[in-house]
Amino acid sequence: MKMLTPNQLNSLNFSGGPGALPETVLDQVREAIVSVPDVGLSILGISHRSDWFASVVAELETNIRVLLGLDKGYRVLFLQGGATQQFSMVPMNLLRGSPVAAQYLHTGYWSGKALPEARREGPVQVAWSGEASGFSHLPTDAELALDADAPYLHYISNETVEGLQFHRVVGRDDVPRICDMSSDFLSRPGEFDRFSLIYAHAQKNIGPAGVTVVVLRDELLQKMRGDVPTFLDYRAQADANSVLNTPPVFAIYVILLVTRWLRDEAGGLPGIAAKNAKKAEVLYKALDASRGFYRGRAAAADRSLMNVVFTLPGSDVEQRFLDEAADAGFSGLNGHRSVGGIRASIYNGLELSAAEMFANFMDDFARRNR
Ligand SMILES: *Cc1c(COP(=O)(O)O)cnc(C)c1O
Repeated sequence: MKMLTPNQLNSLNFSGGPGALPETVLDQVREAIVSVPDVGLSILGISHRSDWFASVVAELETNIRVLLGLDKGYRVLFLQGGATQQFSMVPMNLLRGSPVAAQYLHTGYWSGKALPEARREGPVQVAWSGEASGFSHLPTDAELALDADAPYLHYISNETVEGLQFHRVVGRDDVPRICDMSSDFLSRPGEFDRFSLIYAHAQKNIGPAGVTVVVLRDELLQKMRGDVPTFLDYRAQADANSVLNTPPVFAIYVILLVTRWLRDEAGGLPGIAAKNAKKAEVLYKALDASRGFYRGRAAAADRSLMNVVFTLPGSDVEQRFLDEAADAGFSGLNGHRSVGGIRASIYNGLELSAAEMFANFMDDFARRNR
């Protein structure tokens, strides 16, 4: 491999998750490991019962609410267990004992993981499945069989593995919408007040593993059963202001730094969305200009602005692509183990210059190997 500095290597990290974080955030994290400004202690040794940590949680809640444009009718929780635990917590709290089926969209690998967890808790109806078409596209509104009586509709805004992203809000306004936004949370503006519950673990787009953000409507909290284990009870977590037990102080602090960066340096969600769209445009252009050498996995209309997923003609060429990319300093490009191929993840923290460098690499590789 070429001799690259740690900063250069970090800047070329296209990992699907944990994803790359902005360099200025990493600099502050490095400092906080030794001593948090104004506190004097390492972030790894500060009590979650301290006034300082209470102020971190309060500021982070505000930042998330402001970025999403949500009012005080929404609670913001910081939970553990990743998005996978939300696959269970949602139906435990909202489906257990219901005679009416919750509706789920089956649009790819991760929504497929949510289904069996929901079925443990109650009846589930799949309102649309892309399985027969190999999860290559998302449904149109006309294809969705939506039920007005369902306790909720669950879907995933960005299927991280297949590189499919909804570019609109789906579902009925009279049925609570629940969305897993783990891989595109805080990547673009949206009509977030049309959701009853949004969850997103931090490690794809907004921080390190260990914390999951849950944003939910107060009125949905009131409808919950309250007979689930305390730790898995959204109401108990909300009553305890996310410190029911020891929370991941470090991970929560890092997402605070990321929200400050979004607010102060990245131009808020409109600013980061413009940058993300440009990165995606550069990569999809390289794909489309290759005259079939690179084949995109997703239908053009449903292409993800976060995960660009494609194949090359044959696994030996793919391996050579990965080897040469690694030699040039690019990392994290292997497709998910369930689908193979290549996946370039271009989360918030990745700079446009890195996407441009990778697009040039793609052009050059195609020219030499076509
Ligand atoms: C990665 C991913 C998950 C799994 O998250 P864990 O935090 O590892 O449980 C769930 N949903 C989506 C959309 C993902 O991208």
